[in-house]
Amino acid sequence: MRNLIFFVALFLFHVYVTGQTKLSNETKAYVSYEKGTYLLQNLTLIDGNGTAAKTNQDILIVNDKIEKVGADLIAPENATVINMMGKSAIPGLVMLHEHLFYPKSTPEHIYGVDQMSYSFPKLYLAAGVTTMRTAGSIMPQSDVNIKKAIQNGNTPGPNMDVTSPHLDREGLGIYELGAFNSTEQFVNAINFYADMGVTSIKVYNFITRNDLKAIVKAAHARNMKVTGHLCSITYREAADIGIDNLEHGFFASSDFIENKTDGECQPFEMHKSMLNLPIDSEKVTDLIAHLVKKNVALTSTINVFEPYTNREVVPGGGIDALFTNSKDKVYKRWASKQGKDSLDYVLFNKSKVWEKMFFDAGGLLVAGTDPTYDGRIVAGYANMRLLELFVEMGFTIPEAIQIASFNGAKYLEQEASIGTIEPSKTADLVIIDGDISKDISAIRSIETVFKNGIGYDSKKLFAAAKGLVGIR
Ligand SMILES: [Zn+2]
Repeated sequence: MRNLIFFVALFLFHVYVTGQTKLSNETKAYVSYEKGTYLLQNLTLIDGNGTAAKTNQDILIVNDKIEKVGADLIAPENATVINMMGKSAIPGLVMLHEHLFYPKSTPEHIYGVDQMSYSFPKLYLAAGVTTMRTAGSIMPQSDVNIKKAIQNGNTPGPNMDVTSPHLDREGLGIYELGAFNSTEQFVNAINFYADMGVTSIKVYNFITRNDLKAIVKAAHARNMKVTGHLCSITYREAADIGIDNLEHGFFASSDFIENKTDGECQPFEMHKSMLNLPIDSEKVTDLIAHLVKKNVALTSTINVFEPYTNREVVPGGGIDALFTNSKDKVYKRWASKQGKDSLDYVLFNKSKVWEKMFFDAGGLLVAGTDPTYDGRIVAGYANMRLLELFVEMGFTIPEAIQIASFNGAKYLEQEASIGTIEPSKTADLVIIDGDISKDISAIRSIETVFKNGIGYDSKKLFAAAKGLVGIR
């Protein structure tokens, strides 16, 4: 008994002295600022609210919180003062379509994906992502374990909202996806995944309206939101059923197919309908108004649709992150598409306009990168690229950052604690070497990523994943 009391006392002492998380040696290797009191001085600040940048701003971080923000703050006695003249601060990014899987590096033309447990969490954090939703998983148990390992300080990475596997009926034929054939099975799956530690739900191409009704009801009963990459169901139908979020801008919208076969997924018709639709069509503005009225968030993954001609092989500059086989595959595909992707450009340009219209109409536009498709989209690099593309779409630089930080936090209902740089919020912020208020591509020069008050060395995190994307 005395031993037990002694042990409990020792344990409590340990928790009290070290705080809740004790970093592993693996994690420590990437830390440049341990938890403490820091006064960061003379930054250009974009706070995440969408308002204009401010110059000569100081940020006082005390442990895991932002204590004060403003000009000429007085340093507390115990503070480490760091002059950051010439650097910028933005909030930690909150991105909502960040899978932990990536296309297989095998040369066969089978479409499939592998889990990137080692490289991807590091790459997301390196690029300033401090909170992410996975928006679909192939190994939910692995995603849940990674989330815990990050929380415990065992491995570096963002805070995670782990999403269920892509819930679907038979149809796509991708080996990593499962399929159910009754509404009851979907409901059982939702409760099974919620018990496992999953915190949000993703639905996919071939579900029925009854499936979606039951899924939304079951998920909401477990306090989880539902997002969808749809095909069989239109955006309008899904909004009426009560879906919370739609993925891929308007690319997965079957609302514009003339004489759509009820409940069927018709990808070619969908593609054609959007190519034919005039950019200022009333059908688009009506749908946007409906989604805004129904409070449905829209995730822009516009980076996935970036054309090939005269664009980077791996947008964001991540070619060296790739394993040799993956690099060859991605490069060949990119080279073969040069000058042959004029239709991609048509849809890309329309989508840019439509997504901005949704934002301008008061819709909650959120950001996600979706590292799938042909391997060109690489965790971390894609997050930086997406911000550049938002500016290419016509958003101001503060708006681009707002979409990728505050808006994501709002969707996750965590805006009281994350998403902006303001007093009393969690110390999640990104330090950039350069003036991002003048040029969004300064995002490619991230120096430090503070997450829960701990500063991680972005370059070290990027370096750790070099050559590994495609294998682990
Ligand atoms: Zn996806």
